[in-house]
Amino acid sequence: MALAIVHHPSYAAELPTGHRFPMGKYAALARNLRDEGLLTSENEQLAYPVTRETLLGAHDATYVDAVLNLSLNEAEEKQLGLPLTQTIVERARHAVGGTCLAAELALRHGIACNSAGGTHHAYHAQGRGFCMFNDVAVAIRLLQAQGKIQRAMVIDLDVHQGDGTAQIFANDPSVFTFSVHAENNFPLQKQASDLDFGLEDGSQDEAYMLWLRHLTVRAIKRFRPDIVFFNAGVDIHRDDKLGRLAVSDLGLYAREFFVVQTVRSAGLPLVGVIGGGYSDNVETLSRRHAILFRVADQFG
Ligand SMILES: [Zn+2]
Repeated sequence: MALAIVHHPSYAAELPTGHRFPMGKYAALARNLRDEGLLTSENEQLAYPVTRETLLGAHDATYVDAVLNLSLNEAEEKQLGLPLTQTIVERARHAVGGTCLAAELALRHGIACNSAGGTHHAYHAQGRGFCMFNDVAVAIRLLQAQGKIQRAMVIDLDVHQGDGTAQIFANDPSVFTFSVHAENNFPLQKQASDLDFGLEDGSQDEAYMLWLRHLTVRAIKRFRPDIVFFNAGVDIHRDDKLGRLAVSDLGLYAREFFVVQTVRSAGLPLVGVIGGGYSDNVETLSRRHAILFRVADQFG
C-alpha cells in the first residue's frame, strides 16, 4: 500500500505580504509531492479540524479558549509570531487534526506522514515561535486517552529544541522526548527533554549522523515505545535561513532514511511531521521537506 499522506488545502493559509513565516512552502510541498506521484487521490487523507476537547489533552483550557475566541493579548500574539485570525486558527486546528489522523493511520499501516505539523514550541499554556498548538503532544494524549497506546517517543530533529514538547511531558514517564538541535539556536533557554543533544554551529553531515545513530538506537531499545513521532524539520540544512548547522541534501536524505529504517525495523509505528524549514525560495525549501515523504514511501 502507498504511504498514507495527510494533507489539507487550509495548511497554506494567507499571511500578510512579507511575513517571516514561509507559508508558501505548504502549497509548494503538496505540488511537489503530486508531481513526484507521491501524493495521489488514492493515498491522500484529508485532515480534520481538531476539537477543543482534544486540544485540552495537552493544553490549558484558558489558553485554548483565548486562541479559539481570538482573544490573546498583544504580548501573547507577538510571542506566537502569527496574526491571530480565524483563518490562521482554522489552519492550526487542521494541522493538529492532521497529525492525530496520521497517528491513527500509522497505527493501522505502520507509517504515515502529515504534510504539516511539528509545532514543537507550543507550551501547555502558551504559543511561541509560529507554534499555536503542539500537534504531536495533542496526538499522543489523544491516542493514550483512547487506550490505543501507552508509551510514545518523540524524535525531534528540527534544528530548534523541542522545548514545548519537553515542557508538556516533563513529568510524564509514559512519553520519552528526544531532541537533537543546534545548541546556540532559539530557544536560548532550553527545557529539559528526556534526552537532549545540542550540536555546535556549523556541524556537518558526519558529526550530525554520528550522534544521531548512537543516541537513537539506544533510546528506542531502552524505552520501548508503542509509537514514534518524528519531527523532520529541515532547518538543519546548510542553506537554511535560521539553521546554524551545515547539513547537505545528502545528509538530510541519510537522516530521514536512518530514522525511518530504524523505527520500522524495530517493528514500531512511525508518524512523520515536517517541522521547520526557512528560505525565501519556497520551491527549494519544499524539495527539502519532500525527502521525508520519498523515504517514507519506500516503507509505506
Ligand atoms: Zn525549527
